[in-house]
Amino acid sequence: MNPGGEVQFTDEIYREVILDHYRSPRHSGEMADPDVFEAGINPLCGDELMLFLKFKGVAIAEIAFKGKGCSISQASASMMTEAVQDLDVFRAEALAREFKDMMLEGRPAESLSAELEDAKSLEGVKRYPVRVKCAVLAWNTLLEALKKRGKI
Ligand code: ZN
Repeated sequence: MNPGGEVQFTDEIYREVILDHYRSPRHSGEMADPDVFEAGINPLCGDELMLFLKFKGVAIAEIAFKGKGCSISQASASMMTEAVQDLDVFRAEALAREFKDMMLEGRPAESLSAELEDAKSLEGVKRYPVRVKCAVLAWNTLLEALKKRGKI
C-alpha cells in the first residue's frame, strides 16, 4: 500500500473532472429573456461571471452562465449550473451552502449531497487559499441571484 500514491490518483481523477467542465462547460451561453440576471466578479484573479435564471414557481427551470477567467472559476460555474438545474430554489440554496462549507469551513467532501458529486473535485483547491474565491464565485453569484429574486 502506498497512501501517498492513492491521494495522487484521486487528485488525477479530480483534475480530469475539472478540466472536462472547463473545456466543455454545461449550460454555457447567454439567455435572451431571463427572470434574473446577476453578475459576479472575483477581482483577486480577474474572474467574471454572468448568470441567467428562469423560474417556474420555485423551481429553477433554466440556468445559463457566461464567463471568463481561470479554469477553476469557469469549471465551478459549469458544475454549479449542472447541479441546480431543475431543482427548487431551497434545495439549490442548501447545495450552495454545502459547497461553501466545504471550501471555507472544512466540511469534508464525502459528506456533501449527491448532486455535488462533480463539485467535490474542487476540494483540493482549499490548499491554495487565493484560489478559493475562484471556486466559490459561481455559488455566491447564485445565492445573490436567488436573494435578488426574493426566492430565498
Ligand atoms: Zn480564478
